[in-house]
Amino acid sequence: MASVEVKNICVVGAGNMGHQIALSAALAGYKVICTDISEEILTMAEKFADTYLPERVAKGKLAEDEARAARARISFTGDLTEAAQDADMVIEAAIEKLNLKHKIFADLDRICPPHTILATNSSYIVSSKIAGVTKRPAQVCNMHFFNPALAMKLVEVVKGAHVSDETVETVMDVCKKMGKIPVMLQKEIYGFLVNRIVSAIKTEALYIHDMGVASPEDIDAAVVHALGHPMGPFRLLDLTGIDLTYYVGMERYQETGDPKYKPSPIVVEKFVNKEWGRKTGKGFYNYCK
Ligand code: NAD
Repeated sequence: MASVEVKNICVVGAGNMGHQIALSAALAGYKVICTDISEEILTMAEKFADTYLPERVAKGKLAEDEARAARARISFTGDLTEAAQDADMVIEAAIEKLNLKHKIFADLDRICPPHTILATNSSYIVSSKIAGVTKRPAQVCNMHFFNPALAMKLVEVVKGAHVSDETVETVMDVCKKMGKIPVMLQKEIYGFLVNRIVSAIKTEALYIHDMGVASPEDIDAAVVHALGHPMGPFRLLDLTGIDLTYYVGMERYQETGDPKYKPSPIVVEKFVNKEWGRKTGKGFYNYCK
């Protein structure tokens, strides 16, 4: 198969990551349809596009005609078929649950044309665990953006053993056209590069916190001022979503049976109380005015 010429991109899931991935793609010149099962999330995603683009223009970071053109290239729908039927590439950014991703990829395989590449933005789930539900495993791969996706340059592209060279080449090209810096992983590994490293820091920070040694503020201050990170692990947990940390830990624990992956007591408590970080207004920090 020759590398795919990508013009139309469908983004599945318009939450924390999806709405910004979709807007990044529209700004890069792709025609984008963003879909979600939640009308409320879709409305928020559309409102975000309507405020973000004029703000960039006001700040002198984007020309007015470019903003107008990008806005015209992106649309939002709750209908997966409408969103995916003409896509050359789909970027799935729905919540981090394997059975949900199986359902979405099986649907996409049925809806999309044969040439369509199906990429997942999953933080931890390698695409070989998803590709089997489709009839096109060579066109299913990981394309892992970072949060916030409009600002963060890195994208991890993973060449699992089932993924064709053409697929990886196309995905790398799309990343570059989006102004990103893609890095290619030559084989699948749980957590890819960055999350393996960050998880080690987060796990230790949560352990120290749960031992009653120091507050989230003080642990964050230590990491920011000693290690030079732009934010500490607790602010990062709030940004990425404590629900995500909970789901990832539970999936990994159920898969391996290894208690080290069990979400820490404070993560469980915050998950149950719906204190999921920025997205719910409260996590380790308070975001409500
Ligand atoms: P989120 O909860 O903010 O958004 C997920 C969205 O998926 C929700 O709006 C939900 O309504 C939607 N959804 C659920 N089922 C759906 C379906 N069947 N069809 C369409 N939409 C559906 O989650 P998020 O933080 O944006 O994470 C999304 C994916 O991106 C996850 O796989 C996660 O691992 C990955 N990721 C997250 C981050 C992060 O920092 N949050 C960073 C990189 C990658």
